[in-house]
Amino acid sequence: MKKVPYRFFLTEDQMPRQWYNLRADMKEQPDPMLNPQTGKPATEEDLYPVFCKELARQELDSTTRYIDIPEPILEMYRIYRPSPLIRAYNLEKALGTPARIYYKFEGNNTSGSHKLNSAIAQAYYAKEQGLTSLTTETGAGQWGTALAEACAYYHLPLTVYMVKGSYNQKPFRKAIIQTFGADVIPSPSDTTNAGRAILAEHPDTTGSLGCAISEAVEKAVTTEGCRYVLGSVLNQVLLHQSIIGLESKKAMELLDEYPDIIIGCAGGGSNLGGLIAPFMQDKLLGKADPRIVAVEPASCPSLTRGKYAYDYCDTGKITPMARMYTLGCGFIPSANHAGGLRYHGMSPILSKLYHDGYMEAVSVEQTKVFEAAVMFSKLETILPAPESSHAIRAAIDEALKCKETGEAKTILFGLTGTGYFDMTAYTSFLEGNMSDYIPTDEDLKRGFDGLPSIPGIQ
Ligand SMILES: *Cc1c(COP(=O)(O)O)cnc(C)c1O
Repeated sequence: MKKVPYRFFLTEDQMPRQWYNLRADMKEQPDPMLNPQTGKPATEEDLYPVFCKELARQELDSTTRYIDIPEPILEMYRIYRPSPLIRAYNLEKALGTPARIYYKFEGNNTSGSHKLNSAIAQAYYAKEQGLTSLTTETGAGQWGTALAEACAYYHLPLTVYMVKGSYNQKPFRKAIIQTFGADVIPSPSDTTNAGRAILAEHPDTTGSLGCAISEAVEKAVTTEGCRYVLGSVLNQVLLHQSIIGLESKKAMELLDEYPDIIIGCAGGGSNLGGLIAPFMQDKLLGKADPRIVAVEPASCPSLTRGKYAYDYCDTGKITPMARMYTLGCGFIPSANHAGGLRYHGMSPILSKLYHDGYMEAVSVEQTKVFEAAVMFSKLETILPAPESSHAIRAAIDEALKCKETGEAKTILFGLTGTGYFDMTAYTSFLEGNMSDYIPTDEDLKRGFDGLPSIPGIQ
């Protein structure tokens, strides 16, 4: 076996020029999105008021296996890609494991995460269609930052509804988004009907992603030339994020490696869906059989404790309904949860693959996640995002199992980003003030009780 370098980069010429659409190789498709007004499968036209046309097409395209990445998007990708595939020699040594641990690091851009991969694509198609502004929501802030970067590049005005708790906790996040020229509004706000309704019921709420989505969608459909864009969950976002997996697979091939275990954190599922895409293809086609593990917070356990059901993608119940693992669109994680990944649902593609047994899911408590984050930062010099640290936790646990069994497995995990804006959470961990709140069955039941009833389906 070749001596593997610490950091391995593909050359510009080796970078993928197409995205990979995992649905084309799935034997059974995820159930169709439903139009909330008619209860019928949503058509491309149904999506036009919310999404731009090319993205509506990509959303519903389950047959085109490879989709060319337009040259202007490739040009933008080349500014910060390919991202490095890093061999975690120091971590391996510290753990005393025979496992070989690799991670794909997506934090090398100002958004500090993989989200820029889809933000660029979405802003590009909006500009191509002649749209004049965009709206979105952001929770932790990485998506808002990524989209603000992309919109600055394409000269598109952007309004970001930022979950209020995060807006108050991360003033510098807000400042970066503003530096790139976007407007930031704390959500729930009094600028939309959805926001006003939530404020009337819960005046002191710190907000949620689902609620911010409702506000952004409402703004998009009531503003001429404006569309809504979303940073995760949707099929189109997983498609754009396949660049992560395609690069990883190619790099590993050049190193004569293939992962036995692939691990990613799962919020809405976009980085995980992107990372695993070409490996899942091998699995679906019977060419290889890696284990694929989604890692989620114990305080927001959509895969491990959620229901596989049709649900709204937002709290305001105005988006199409998707069949996915969900905690109910009214679910809001406990206020002491600081680790991100707080969305109530999960990508319909990943939900289906999980439901059909192609992947596993584990949930981890946040103090264990931050323990792993601090250990990792000291060994690998990267201060990881709390979200990414879920994957680190699970990778460490798998490597420790290898230590027990003596198996030299190859582990690949997604290091989705950096945690510079999460220092309040790190401080609370370091000072011993962080606790683990795991929702009770009773808490979860409240969310499930709010699931929509759809005649003939559920
Ligand atoms: C948004 C985000 C995630 C979670 O989103 P997914 O769509 O599940 O990938 C994970 N890590 C970082 C750094 C993020 O910004």
